[in-house]
Amino acid sequence: MNTHLETLRTLDPSTAGRIRDLVGTPAYVYDEKTLVARAHETLAFPNAFGLTVRYAMKACPNGNILRIFDREGLHVDASSVWEVERAVRAGIEPDRISLSTQELAPGFEDWVRRGVKVNACSLDQIDRYGRAFPGGEIGLRLNPGLGSGGTTKTNVGGPASSFGIWHETLDEADVILRKHGSVVVRIHSHIGSGSDPAVWISAASLTLAHVRRYETVCSFNLGGGFKVARMSGETGTDLQLVGQPVRELLEGFARETGRELHFEIEPGTYLTANAGAVLTTVQDISTTGEEGYAFIKLDAGMTELTRPSLYGSQHPMILIPADGDERRGSASYVAVGHCCESGDMLTPREGDPSVLDPRMMIRAQIGDLLVIEGAGAYCSAMATKNYNSFPEAPEVLIRANGEAAVIRRRQTLDQIIVNEETVV
Ligand SMILES: *Cc1c(COP(=O)(O)O)cnc(C)c1O
Repeated sequence: MNTHLETLRTLDPSTAGRIRDLVGTPAYVYDEKTLVARAHETLAFPNAFGLTVRYAMKACPNGNILRIFDREGLHVDASSVWEVERAVRAGIEPDRISLSTQELAPGFEDWVRRGVKVNACSLDQIDRYGRAFPGGEIGLRLNPGLGSGGTTKTNVGGPASSFGIWHETLDEADVILRKHGSVVVRIHSHIGSGSDPAVWISAASLTLAHVRRYETVCSFNLGGGFKVARMSGETGTDLQLVGQPVRELLEGFARETGRELHFEIEPGTYLTANAGAVLTTVQDISTTGEEGYAFIKLDAGMTELTRPSLYGSQHPMILIPADGDERRGSASYVAVGHCCESGDMLTPREGDPSVLDPRMMIRAQIGDLLVIEGAGAYCSAMATKNYNSFPEAPEVLIRANGEAAVIRRRQTLDQIIVNEETVV
């Protein structure tokens, strides 16, 4: 059992009450001050010859979030042609967007003409890019043979990962590059949200070794994957600490080769995870007896937050008593979502979504608010939206002046069924 009593970070009880009155629950809430503070931390990442920070927009793609980061000087990492278009519609200049995608969908050519930079992520992507732009400049996303992730589901490097061009196939890549006269100007790798800075640093040096292969490379991108501490007791990444050895690598490379590489990182989690929460209501409480569990049933679930049921990920949960009485004592609960799906459980054992792991919190009553913290990254973006026909939850931004602004309205049932055709 997890016996840590977590404390509120993104929301205080009065703001939580204000947001419930504004849009109801469930609702995503983001804190602008925290987003800005994280942006500044990433911009201070150690570097030797210049730095570009790209926000990996798949973490939380609301246009307002994109504009906040754009305003603070960040560029964008897009994971699909659709994300590119979404960013451009949000006001991001195409030449501030780079695309590293599993599916290089038709239409990418127009975006490249408008300034979007592509990092080819497979041999076929190199070929298709080269056919569209003979003699053109290209980036390569490599799989350096090493990954770093909490689970195989968040590990995106190494032999079990399909992301990027496998390092042992670079001879084949070179044949295709030569065929089109393509000029490699960027080397990219992104190995996952690992907990171990040592792994991140060795991936950096493995990737840098491949830069030697291409004299024309001037930009070196190590992706994102900086772990954050969601739960109290976890340790997050110290960017200064992981960045220092990378700076030294780049300086050493310059001394040896005379090449001063521009450096890029692409954080998603780091920028947003602890800047967001899901505000929910305890809508029911049940028990399965002495040998069983006490359950609190929320008005949210995998429809807002898929990570616990997908990875067994841990999110702090803080109960806010509706009557303001925090002296009710504490109790341990399994928190479940509102879907008719036994996997819709928000308190799994870490790394194992199939095991129930009750949490200590203030004794709950129906109608209390429950705040799920650490929900700014891959929650709204990755929700199992519309299962059981629950509408997509609204998003609220707490502005720097404390004002709560709706940045996405709650979806309506009409919007859920708008594309259905009546044929029966
Ligand atoms: C998802 C992704 C990122 C961001 O990863 P985080 O773990 O959220 O920091 C960066 N770069 C690429 C190419 C990605 O696919």
